[in-house]
Amino acid sequence: MSQAWLLAVDLGSIAMVGVGLLFVVVWAVDRQRSSALFFAGAIAAYVAATLALSVPIDVALASTIHGVLFPLSMVLLADGLRRRIDDRLPPAATIGFVVVMAVVVWYFAYISPLMVARIITQNLGTALLLSAVMRGLWRRPLKTGLDRVALLAAAGLAVSTGVDVVVALFSTVPREITTPAQLDSYLASNLEMCLIVASAVVLPACMVALLGVTVVDVVHELRFDRDRDELTGVFNRRGFSRRAEVELGCTERCGVVLADLDFFKSVNDELGHAGGDKVLVAFARLLADNLEDGRIVGRIGGEEFAVLLPHMGIDGATEWAEAVRCRQAAQDVGFDDRVITVTASFGVAAGDSRSQLAALLDSADRALYVAKLGGRNRIAVTT
Ligand code: GH3
Ligand code: MG
Ligand code: MG
Repeated sequence: MSQAWLLAVDLGSIAMVGVGLLFVVVWAVDRQRSSALFFAGAIAAYVAATLALSVPIDVALASTIHGVLFPLSMVLLADGLRRRIDDRLPPAATIGFVVVMAVVVWYFAYISPLMVARIITQNLGTALLLSAVMRGLWRRPLKTGLDRVALLAAAGLAVSTGVDVVVALFSTVPREITTPAQLDSYLASNLEMCLIVASAVVLPACMVALLGVTVVDVVHELRFDRDRDELTGVFNRRGFSRRAEVELGCTERCGVVLADLDFFKSVNDELGHAGGDKVLVAFARLLADNLEDGRIVGRIGGEEFAVLLPHMGIDGATEWAEAVRCRQAAQDVGFDDRVITVTASFGVAAGDSRSQLAALLDSADRALYVAKLGGRNRIAVTT
């Protein structure tokens, strides 16, 4: 039986090394993602801690090395969980945690040797650390299913280490293992079984879940970047088309507005490119203000924006465009010591679920051309 458990520990460690390497690969692909590096570090420290207990050296020394590496691994894991949500553990807390844990374990290894006290210290410390991290994760709104998976992974590990503490408190294992008979009885104990379940099942499962979360995080971010305009934060042409096509297919009617800043070339000439950028950002903010109506806003050209207004007919879309036109005409943009007002022209079209997005944009573009010809700072509607 004990042989089977030990095999499980070995398999768990091998799985952990594989997962650790995959975390390094994820970090190599996306260097900004420090959480992946911290998770890899957590695994490296954990595997090193496990190895320290299995090499033939003095038990007190092995326990003390484990007493440093194991809390280091848990603190890296905790910090990785915080970094995933753009937060981090305070360095003083991180160092303090490792030092306190290591000193207590050292005390129960050299001064008053007691194996069960070392086990309780490490598991209680881990359970408290992960509970504190979980509280931090819980306090922030859980935005996605991924946040929930990360929280569950931390909870699984906290519960498992908490159970180890309770079992250790009631266990009758020897003070220290010095004879083969003591080793056999320890390997057959409930405490050892719980520790093996934690290290061979719960921890690898937690790390695999976090690897999945990290990979999906990377994919989400890549998709987000692919579809966003970096300057203004609204969709780019691709992002707009993809979302607008989906929306158009499932809405009874919708308005499409094309908006183009007037004489923008001269804004650049007057304020410089950086000033022009500021005007673009301010205009995009106006278009994307209060998106609760399901509006889809995209920058589809240099100073040209497209807006899809679900559930709106031509009148509603015209009204909305007119309100934006007035706000833009009244909006001053300051740059350096200059303040300027830049107007915009709008072309409005409307369609239903049978309409093609390209055809609607074409109609709106023709209307926009009419608005420009008519003198700018105005709206034209498709006929
Ligand atoms: P109109 O009223 O007919 O629309 O005239 P316009 O000057 O706005 O139009 P035109 O197409 O002649 O000029 C568009 C300018 O937009 C030219 C280009 O330098 C500028 N532009 C395009 N992309 C950017 C950008 O990302 N930032 C800045 N600052 N300017 C940009
Ligand atoms: Mg223009
Ligand atoms: Mg233009």
